[in-house]
Amino acid sequence: MEKREAPSFEQKKYVATVCPEYSPRDEAFVNRAMEISDDSCDKCLHWNDGQCVIFDEVLTGIDQT
Ligand code: SF4
Repeated sequence: MEKREAPSFEQKKYVATVCPEYSPRDEAFVNRAMEISDDSCDKCLHWNDGQCVIFDEVLTGIDQT
């Protein structure tokens, strides 16, 4: 695995909408703290400051069955 660049906001939004593991944190808190209402990895419990282990897999496609 090559080192990835910091994912963009758009990438995190896209991944969160398709990710099977997306687990948003408390909505009220997130909305107040981040002023965004869309899904994003930034809201996810698994994001962990960019350490989510499946982000790359989801980004490159979860349709590989
Ligand atoms: S942080 Fe990880 S688990 Fe959460 S939505 Fe993004 S890719 Fe999925």
